[in-house]
Amino acid sequence: MDKKKTRLLICPVCYSARVVSYMGGVMGQMYKCLDCGYVGSLILEMSFDEYTDLLKKIKREKEDNRKIHI
Ligand SMILES: [Zn+2]
Repeated sequence: MDKKKTRLLICPVCYSARVVSYMGGVMGQMYKCLDCGYVGSLILEMSFDEYTDLLKKIKREKEDNRKIHI
């Protein structure tokens, strides 16, 4: 059995995985983020493992920012 490589579409603004195809046509493929409302052709595409790593990194950065602000 071959493992299907799932590619997630990730919002470049809020890093949500809730991104849908918005439209195609002369502008090319567009995407829409259901969480922040971002619409654009620029989207991050990665595997589930890469996304998990990214979330960990974001969480760590958020914690670092909190330390700076407090
Ligand atoms: Zn977003």
